Amino acid sequence: MSELLTYLKENEKDIEQTLLKLVTAESPSRNKALTDICGLVLKEEFDRLVGGKAETIIKEEVGNQYRFTYGTGDESEQILIIGHYDTVWDQGALPIRKENGKLYGPGAFDMKGGLTITFWALRALKEAGITGKRKIVVLVTSDEEIGSDHSRALIEEEAKKSVMVFVPESSISPDGAVKTARKGVGILKLKVYGKAVHAGIDPWSGVSAIDELALQIADLKKLDNKEDGISINIGKISGGTRTNVVAAYAEAEVDIRFEKKQQGDELEKAVLNRPVFIEGATVEMEGGINRYPLERTEKVVSLYEQLKEIAAEHGYILKEGKSGGGSDGNFTAGVGVPTIDGLGPVGDGAHAENEHIILENLPYRAALVAEVLKRNIG
Ligand SMILES: [Zn+2]
Repeated sequence: MSELLTYLKENEKDIEQTLLKLVTAESPSRNKALTDICGLVLKEEFDRLVGGKAETIIKEEVGNQYRFTYGTGDESEQILIIGHYDTVWDQGALPIRKENGKLYGPGAFDMKGGLTITFWALRALKEAGITGKRKIVVLVTSDEEIGSDHSRALIEEEAKKSVMVFVPESSISPDGAVKTARKGVGILKLKVYGKAVHAGIDPWSGVSAIDELALQIADLKKLDNKEDGISINIGKISGGTRTNVVAAYAEAEVDIRFEKKQQGDELEKAVLNRPVFIEGATVEMEGGINRYPLERTEKVVSLYEQLKEIAAEHGYILKEGKSGGGSDGNFTAGVGVPTIDGLGPVGDGAHAENEHIILENLPYRAALVAEVLKRNIG
């Protein structure tokens, strides 16, 4: 057994305490006051366990964000770990309980478990006296669950200074596979304008926005391609006023997903360039790509190979998988930095009532992160 894993296993109870403190300090994304308190707990834990440089990035609308640094390396050579401490849960919505070796609670799996193992991985490196020419930066944001508008620029800026990025987001259930690919996502809104007239007197003198919208949807769905991993979902439509009126307005909300950056650019162009099917109708498509995909590049594969090797040394098999959903890891991959996501502990139920992590896995996952950092710190 490796020295780092031994140390972490010896501290299993204390690791659990860190997680419990973070989960107890509830942090719904839209409650700044409450979230800021959790941020203070986070900083306190970093100070206690790691004790490096801790910068607070003050935010007006969402919880304050943090940039923690381990070691003193060259600025352009850093290793980045990103995480978020906000959760989707309103205060008190999800009770905290420990049962059968599992900890249930808001954000336990997504992703306070991941923050816990990150701090403990750094703690283990510190206790073992391991530093290198690269410093390790941990950027913890507070609005991932509401789209990361208040952190995206910061994440991308930090990623550009990094040689690799680790994201201890929730792993793939049930066996804790890491994510070596995530789909890209686009969010768009289609607005269709027509001309309202009475449906009985001279309906042909009007222009139905609903008819046009129906044709638009059929046209958009032609871009949907399961084989290539491209999906188009019209998640919401509305429009019209009453049965006896030709509709003057209709709209649709559109979600697009894709596996490759180039695919996404082509898809976005096709979705934005709308033909008009009914004379007199006007069509506007707003929005576009929100997150580029996290692609399984050669560098991503080689990082995964390292992780797999470490896991084997620790006595288990680490699988990989892909996710259809986006995370902040899409931003770091989007600026071209190799990113491994889903490094968080084994658990289940992100955004669901059964959200939990498996406690005995915490030292193993912290050791996995510690070892991969040790190998790459230079
Ligand atoms: Zn998350």
